[in-house]
Amino acid sequence: MTAPVRVATLGFPRIGPKRELKIALEGYWAGRIGADQLLATAAELRSYTWQRQRDLGADIVPSNDFSLYDHVLDTSAMVGAVPDIYGWSGAQVDLDTYFAMARGTHASGDAGGCAHGHAHAGTGVPATEMTKWFDTNYHYIVPEFSADQTFRLASTKPLDEYLEAKRQGIETRPVLLGPVSYLLLGKATTPDFDPLTLLPRLLPVYAQALTALKDAGAGWVQIDEPCLVLDLSDGARHAYREAYAALADALPGLRLMLTTYFGGVGDNLDTLLALPVHGLHVDLIRAPGQLAEVVARSRPDQVLSLGVVDGRNVWKADLNAILERVAPLVQAGREVTLAPSCSLLHTPIDLERETDLDPDVRNWLAFAVQKVAELAVLARALNEGRHAVQATLDASTAAVASRRTSPKIVDPSVRARAGSSDAGLAHRQSPFRERAKAQHAKLGLPLYPATTIGSFPQTPEVRKARADHAKGVIDHAAYAGFLREETARTVRWQEEIGLDVLVHGEFERNDMVQYFGEQLSGFAFTRHGWVQSYGSRCVRPPIIFGDVSRPRPMTVEWWRYAQSVTQKPMKGMLTGPVTILNWSFVRDDQPRAETCRQIAFAIRDEVVDLEAAGAPIIQIDEAALREGLPLRRTEWQSYLDWAVECFRITASGVRDETQIHTHMCYSEFNDIIEAIGALDADVISIETSRSKMELLGAFSGYRYPAEIGPGVYDIHSPRVPPAEEMVDLLKAAAERLPAEQLWVNPDCGLKTRKWDEVRPALVNMVAAARRIRASTT
Ligand code: GLN
Ligand code: ZN
Repeated sequence: MTAPVRVATLGFPRIGPKRELKIALEGYWAGRIGADQLLATAAELRSYTWQRQRDLGADIVPSNDFSLYDHVLDTSAMVGAVPDIYGWSGAQVDLDTYFAMARGTHASGDAGGCAHGHAHAGTGVPATEMTKWFDTNYHYIVPEFSADQTFRLASTKPLDEYLEAKRQGIETRPVLLGPVSYLLLGKATTPDFDPLTLLPRLLPVYAQALTALKDAGAGWVQIDEPCLVLDLSDGARHAYREAYAALADALPGLRLMLTTYFGGVGDNLDTLLALPVHGLHVDLIRAPGQLAEVVARSRPDQVLSLGVVDGRNVWKADLNAILERVAPLVQAGREVTLAPSCSLLHTPIDLERETDLDPDVRNWLAFAVQKVAELAVLARALNEGRHAVQATLDASTAAVASRRTSPKIVDPSVRARAGSSDAGLAHRQSPFRERAKAQHAKLGLPLYPATTIGSFPQTPEVRKARADHAKGVIDHAAYAGFLREETARTVRWQEEIGLDVLVHGEFERNDMVQYFGEQLSGFAFTRHGWVQSYGSRCVRPPIIFGDVSRPRPMTVEWWRYAQSVTQKPMKGMLTGPVTILNWSFVRDDQPRAETCRQIAFAIRDEVVDLEAAGAPIIQIDEAALREGLPLRRTEWQSYLDWAVECFRITASGVRDETQIHTHMCYSEFNDIIEAIGALDADVISIETSRSKMELLGAFSGYRYPAEIGPGVYDIHSPRVPPAEEMVDLLKAAAERLPAEQLWVNPDCGLKTRKWDEVRPALVNMVAAARRIRASTT
C-alpha cells in the first residue's frame, strides 16, 4: 500500500498579513511597546500561520521558520556565536543582544543607505554585517567566526516553538539551517581561517538541539542546506559527509528532511546522495531537469520532497503539468511530499486582499496562501483521483491558456522590436575617446567635476505630500506645485554651493524602480504584496506580467523644469533595465533576458527623448547589476552578456556629445570588471569611500578607459566627512588613475539622509574638489 502524497511547506512569510511584526518591532525599538507585547504579537502570528497552513491543507507545517529578525541570526543565537563586541556573557542570547547584533546600539534606525541596500549603524556598537541571502532580495546577518570560536546551545527557540505549536494541537516539523550552510554563509574574522574547520566544534551543539526536539516528540526535522546548489570546494563536500554522518550517529531514529533550493544540486549530487538522511527536497522550479536522476539514484526508502510550486515568484502553477510529472512516481510506489520550491518567505502573503488588481492579472497570480492551496489540490488529485478536484484543474488549464494568449500580455510591436538583431542598436556612434572630446567641448567642465548621484533627502514633508496626494487629500496641481518648489530650491542650492553637474533631486519618485514601473505597460502593482527585505524592512516589488513598452515620456517634464532653473548642466536620471528587472517579480513565461531587452528598449526611448529635450548628460542607474549574477559561476558569462547588451541598447541611441553616466552602489568589481568596461558608459560612479579607494585597483589594472566617480562621501552614515578627508581619498584615487578620468561625488543617492547632514557634507565635498583641482593644475 503506497503512502499518500502529503503537502509540506518549508517556511512561511513572518511579517504578517498586515505587517503586524514590522509594526511591533518598530514599536519596540522606539520604546512604544514592551518586550512582552512584542513577543505576544510574534506568538499570535505564529499561531495564525500554523493554523492557516493547516486549514489550507498542508499536512506538514514548519516551526522555527518564524524569526524576530532573521533566521541566520537565530542560528547564531542558537549556537552562541556572538561576536565579542556585544559583550554577551549570559546563558541564553537575550533580546537586547539579539537586536544589538541585528541593528547595532544607538543605531539611528533608518541609517540605511541604498534603496534596497544595507543598513549601517550610526554610533555605539555597530550592527553585524548583512548580505543578500543567495540570489533573493532578502538579507541575512552574516555570522562571524574566529579561530578560537566556541559554540554552546544558547537559545532554545527551535524547541520552544515546536512545543508552542504542540500545545495548540499542531504537530510541526521544526526547521534548522544546516550546520554546513551555516558555516559557509559566515565570514572569518581571523585572517586565512576557514570556518569549515569549526565543524567538529559546532556539531555537538546541533546534536544537542536536535536531541531536545526528538525527546519532545518531533518525528522529523527539516534541515536546510541551500549551499548544496552552489559551486563547492572538495573541502565543503567533505564537510557535508562528515556532518551528516556525525548527526546520524548521534541521533538514531530522528528523521531529517534535507532541503536544497534556489537551484539544481548539479555536481554536488553525489555528495547529496551519500548523506544518511531520510528525506531529500529538491527545487524543481529552478532545476526541473534534476528530478529523473534524483529519483533514480536516491535510496528507494528516502522520502522525496518535490519543490513543484514556485516559492520565488507570484504566478499560479500549471497544476495539470505538475500532475503529469509527479503521477508516474507515485504510481511506482515512491513516497512523495509536494512542496514549494523553497520557503514562501520570498512571496507576498495573500492575493485575496488585492482587490484593485486587474481581474485578468489577478487570475494569473498566486501568493503564499494560494500556493499552499495549490499543493493541496495536487495532493488530492494524486490521492483521490483527478475527478475529486476536476473543477479546480479545469480552472488552472483556463488560467494557463489565458496567460498564453491574452492581449494584455502579448504586444506584437514590442516583440518585433525586441526581436530585432540590428547590431548597431547596441553601439554608440563613436568610440569613447572621440565621444569624450565632443562631450568636453560641449560641457566645458573643470577637472574633477563635482556632482551627486541623484536623489536629495526624502524629508517627512516630501513623504507626507506624496501620501496626501495618494489619499486625495491634496489634488494633483497642489502636489505638482509642492514638488516643483522642492526641486527648484534644491537646484538653486546646488548651484550656490558650486556643484558642476546638477540633479533635480528625485522628489517625485517613491522608489527608483516603482516610479518607472508605474509608467510602463506590462507592470502591475499590489497594495499589500509586501516581502521581507531585512528585519522589519519590507518591499513591494512590481510584477512584470506582460510585454513592456513606454506609452509616453516618463521623466522629461521634470528634467525640463529642473534645467529651466539653472544654467549649469542638469542630468537626466533613469533606472536601468537590469535593475528594474532584478527588483521585480518577473514573468516565468519567457526568459529573463527577453524581458530585460523589452525594458531596455523602453528606457532607450526615454534616453532619446531626454536628449531631444536638451539633456546634455543622462545617468542610467544599474544598482542591481551585480546582484543579478547567477549562483553558479558557469552561468555568469551568459547573464553578463545579455545584461551588458541591454544596458548598451538603452544608452546607444544618443549622439557622441551626449554624456552617458551610470551608477552602481557597490564596490566589488574585480570579477566583473570586463563587463563594467563593456557597458561603454562615459562616466561611472561607484561606492569606494568605505574601502578607501582600494577597488580602484580593479579599474586601473584593467585600464578602464572611461571616466570614474569614486564615491568620496559615505552616505550610509550620518557622519559629515571633513574636506581634508575627501581630499585624501581623491589623492589616493589620483595615484591609481589620471586626473582627467576622475569625478567627485558621494557614494550613492542622498534620499535617506537629512538635509542637516547633506548640506555641510556637500559643501565640504565641493571644497575638496576645488582643492585637488588647485593642486593639480
Ligand atoms: N539615482 C538614484 C538615487 O540617487 C540611485 C540610487 C541607487 O542606485 N540605489 O537615489
Ligand atoms: Zn547607489
